Amino acid sequence: MMTPAKATDASRMNCDLLVVGSGASGLAAAVTAAWHGLKVIVVEKDPVFGGATAWSGGWMWVPGNPLAKRAGIDEDPQQPRIYLKHELGDRYDASRVDAFLDNGPRMVAFFEEHTELQFVDGNAIPDIHGGVPGAGTQGHQVIAAPYDGREVGRRLMRRLRKTMRETSFMGMPIMAGADLMAFLSVTRSFKSLLHVSKRFCRHLLDLAMYGRAMQLVNGVALVARLAKSAEKLGVKLIESAPAKRLILEDGVVRGAVVSTAQGEIEIRAAKGVVLAAGGFPNDVQRRKALFPRTPTGTEHLALPPASCSGDGISLGESAGGSLVTDLASPVAWAPVSKVRYADGSIGHFPHIIDRAKPGVIGVLANGKRFVNEAGGYYDYTSAMVAAVPEGQEVASWLVCDHRFQRRYGLGFAKPFPLPLTPYFRSGYLKRGHSIDELAKVCGIAPDALAKTVRAYNESARQGGDPEFGRGSTPYNRKQGDPLHSPNPCVAPIDQGPFYAVKVLPGSFGTFAGLKTNGFAQVLGRDDRPIAGLYAVGTDMASVLGGFYPSGGINLGPAMTFGYIAGQHAAGAMRI
Ligand SMILES: Cc1cc2nc3c(=O)[nH]c(=O)nc-3n(C[C@H](O)[C@H](O)[C@H](O)COP(=O)(O)OP(=O)(O)OC[C@H]3O[C@@H](n4cnc5c(N)ncnc54)[C@H](O)[C@@H]3O)c2cc1C
Repeated sequence: MMTPAKATDASRMNCDLLVVGSGASGLAAAVTAAWHGLKVIVVEKDPVFGGATAWSGGWMWVPGNPLAKRAGIDEDPQQPRIYLKHELGDRYDASRVDAFLDNGPRMVAFFEEHTELQFVDGNAIPDIHGGVPGAGTQGHQVIAAPYDGREVGRRLMRRLRKTMRETSFMGMPIMAGADLMAFLSVTRSFKSLLHVSKRFCRHLLDLAMYGRAMQLVNGVALVARLAKSAEKLGVKLIESAPAKRLILEDGVVRGAVVSTAQGEIEIRAAKGVVLAAGGFPNDVQRRKALFPRTPTGTEHLALPPASCSGDGISLGESAGGSLVTDLASPVAWAPVSKVRYADGSIGHFPHIIDRAKPGVIGVLANGKRFVNEAGGYYDYTSAMVAAVPEGQEVASWLVCDHRFQRRYGLGFAKPFPLPLTPYFRSGYLKRGHSIDELAKVCGIAPDALAKTVRAYNESARQGGDPEFGRGSTPYNRKQGDPLHSPNPCVAPIDQGPFYAVKVLPGSFGTFAGLKTNGFAQVLGRDDRPIAGLYAVGTDMASVLGGFYPSGGINLGPAMTFGYIAGQHAAGAMRI
């Protein structure tokens, strides 16, 4: 992975900072460094910029952020620390956690003040584990403000990754919160119908004129705003250019060799290289070695693009960095179902919003529930991995009735008025006219499933779930249906036909990553910084020790440590 420096002028470029990867963390580093006056180059392996970030919900966990402050939420800065100490236990690394919590609000203020990246608050989104001391109920999340693709400009827009097919509607990304609620209540509210009609008509027009969605929200808005900021600050963005080897001279990283259509280029970087290549969710060999219950590595359904396959980790290791695997989990678990398209291709659908809605439960092949399904995605999946006996396929089924499916949709199978036939035909959605029939179609133990549904329904009619406590935390209730009472997460499953979707272990990305310090510098085996080498985003080991205490805990740290690396490289770091 290292190279001796020998290249002709034609195959050589110079800059101050070279960034490998163009997701949130890489672009945040690039924009910050460029704003501080550095000459920056970003190289991206894929033909489009944006990585997993572009496919993400775009939420960033940043306690104490300026938007929360402006809304009058003045939380004691110790509160998130108390929460994290309880969540992380002996994996709480005070220096890195402090670097994150102290710099997160500064990061938001910096981008708001100096760049195209503007934010909208997610003040009402609670932390996941409401019962844990210090858990916040408000003021912890921000998301990129919606962005009009026309402001990006046609040339740059064509170079940005489109929204993930599985989570969009005909290529149109839908924003969590009021936008999503309007889509889910389109048949129940005239206001929602109006909103959705307006959005959809504009989208059709954009498809006709630009061939892609132009009302950018969520991860695509974050990437577009960062990429536009980078362009404005003169950052050179190079796509289809994977970094292949680091240039290491006298123990200092001086740049990298990058492969392009014109051949290899040596890019020398006076202030160093930032590894931001998106971790290793698609490296089957590392998955096999590190993820539990993945005997061949291929059982796991990773959500990020295929290009996030461990290059940054290997580059870091080649310069003396080490992969931290001693974490609560090496992987940011997500419950995922496999979508088979008519052309034979396969998609991965993340079950983010359906599990907490009233009238669905998750069961194993033995017909039994195993977790509060309305909790976090990580919690659902890690509980499933733990509950399925060794030797059996790790899988669960989300089970609901006709009323639920038509109102909220189940996974990729969209709600009314969209037809269900394509989902039956592809085998995605299983149907039974009775619970017994559904169980047999899915291969679930029929008597046990009938017993589980009967027991669940008994309490669900009064809005209770004594067995697992659906609706018992602020996070549960936020993810439920606010229009459903008394419990926004609980309704009986009793109006056939009944439906089920098979859910498998997947991920939003990896938590295992390169060992770094609070300045995002990669540490060598002697725990000293490797000069000229930074790792950010999912190339850096999870600052939260492989735990998942809140939504947004990937992108909040990715943006913050990107910002820190950019500042540190520019010599502008505030301590
Ligand atoms: C569906 C989905 C929803 C999610 N929602 C959220 C959310 O709401 N909040 C949250 O916090 N997290 C969320 N996540 C997780 C989050 O998106 C990722 O953790 C985050 O985007 C990772 O950012 P990154 O900068 O590390 O990498 P990425 O955004 O993946 O970017 C890495 C880039 O590096 C490129 N690359 C790889 N190898 C090379 C190489 N050799 N040379 C050059 N370039 C290379 C890749 O092609 C890629 O473009 C979600 C993820 C998914 C998939």
